[in-house]
Amino acid sequence: MKKLKKKIIQSLNSTLAEKEIYLLEKSFDFAEQAHSDQKRQTGELFINHPLRVALTISQMKLGVNAVIASVLHDVAEDCQVPISKIKNEFNEEVAFLVSGLTKVNKIKYKEQEDTITEKENFRNMILAMAKDLRIIIIKLADRLDNMKTLWSLSPQKQIKKSLETLEILAPLAYRLGMTDIASQLEDLAFPYVFPEEYKLTRKILGKRREEQKNYLNELVPLTREKLEENNLHPKEIKFRTKHLYSVWRKLQKEEMDIRRIHDLVAMRIIMNNIEECYAALGFIHQMWKPVPGRFKDYIALPKPNGYQSLHTTVFAKDGHIVEIQIRTPQMDEEAEWGIAAHWIYSSLKKTDGYKKRKKKFSPPKNFYWINQLRQWQKTFYKSEKFLDALKVDFFKDRIFVLTPKGDIIDLPDGATPIDFAYQIHTDIGNQAAGAQANGKLVPLSYKLKSGEVVEIVVKKKKKPSSSWLEFVKMNETRKRIQDALKGKDFV
Ligand code: MN
Repeated sequence: MKKLKKKIIQSLNSTLAEKEIYLLEKSFDFAEQAHSDQKRQTGELFINHPLRVALTISQMKLGVNAVIASVLHDVAEDCQVPISKIKNEFNEEVAFLVSGLTKVNKIKYKEQEDTITEKENFRNMILAMAKDLRIIIIKLADRLDNMKTLWSLSPQKQIKKSLETLEILAPLAYRLGMTDIASQLEDLAFPYVFPEEYKLTRKILGKRREEQKNYLNELVPLTREKLEENNLHPKEIKFRTKHLYSVWRKLQKEEMDIRRIHDLVAMRIIMNNIEECYAALGFIHQMWKPVPGRFKDYIALPKPNGYQSLHTTVFAKDGHIVEIQIRTPQMDEEAEWGIAAHWIYSSLKKTDGYKKRKKKFSPPKNFYWINQLRQWQKTFYKSEKFLDALKVDFFKDRIFVLTPKGDIIDLPDGATPIDFAYQIHTDIGNQAAGAQANGKLVPLSYKLKSGEVVEIVVKKKKKPSSSWLEFVKMNETRKRIQDALKGKDFV
């Protein structure tokens, strides 16, 4: 425990003011007292868990308040410490982050809802509820630690948590460009959700990855030497091994033939700038023949989550097929840490206040909606659902509210209970007489907020009112009200 605390302070040290160190140490004591002798299922003291989460976060350079919030992330939920107390003892920002984490943890994922849109809605709901991406990042670090100690839970819980990790959290991490955390999460969940496939993948993989690694160990110095001879000076050459779950997914595409997967181990060349990346690529293609159709320029055309690199596959020494990725140091950081890395580079000034920080950490506008659009395009290509989705003010901000049964309804920002009612069913819309949000009566023109549980009171045979047309948000709602007023639904 002492070691963990020391490590956290060390990884922040260069950036910390005295006052911040004081606050951080105070959070250690505060959490330790709150969790007191509470234990994890593993038998260890509970406090170790938030400290490990805080250590992960401290390495991402998201600022000291995010680290303090990580230390305190379970005290509101597990120890009933009121958020107001956290605000008094620490500051508004820490309290905001802890309360956001508590809210996000309360959203329950129903694994029986297995359509793609449901999952997508669920992920978006988490994003919308979090309001500040630091909350999602802490949540991911939290889950990473929980997955590492999953062995200590009951088989039912193991499967439930793993499924949620595979279907919700890892894709969320990918979407934020946090590839490193995403692949760790997937590999930790894989054996619990698909035990047979996990064993099979390991068996098929056999010694192959090891052999490839040994081959690359020889190839790396050779590549460096050749590049240097040509006056190109790579900052670093390393390699990465493909993680198990991704090998499994690829195997399915390649008819289970491991010999068709050429990037089990890929070489990564880090060049100092973009010009040098292209120069290195040109030289490598001269030295080793590229495999046709495998070159991808993600520098000129980044992936939707922002990923940038040059990818090529070549016939290297002794005819071995090798994937090579070339990128700048900044692209390399971003590939691992995604959205968090952006902040390392556009780091905040010490003098920036809370308001400015809050703005900076809010999700980039359109960022995930553009991704969702692409995702939907793939899934619903040419289908009606996709076209429908496009019609409904797609690029405006969205909110996510819940039915009393816990179904998530995705609405445009500014939507009212009437819009909500028509999304459930035309009859509910037509017969709406009143509405409740989180158990409180609200007017029918009320602007709904993300996370609210909305209930519509209906009166049989009631007709919609033309006054609704003045405040409803969605064109679709307006159309349905007009249809009903014209008597289409009534005799
Ligand atoms: Mn936790």
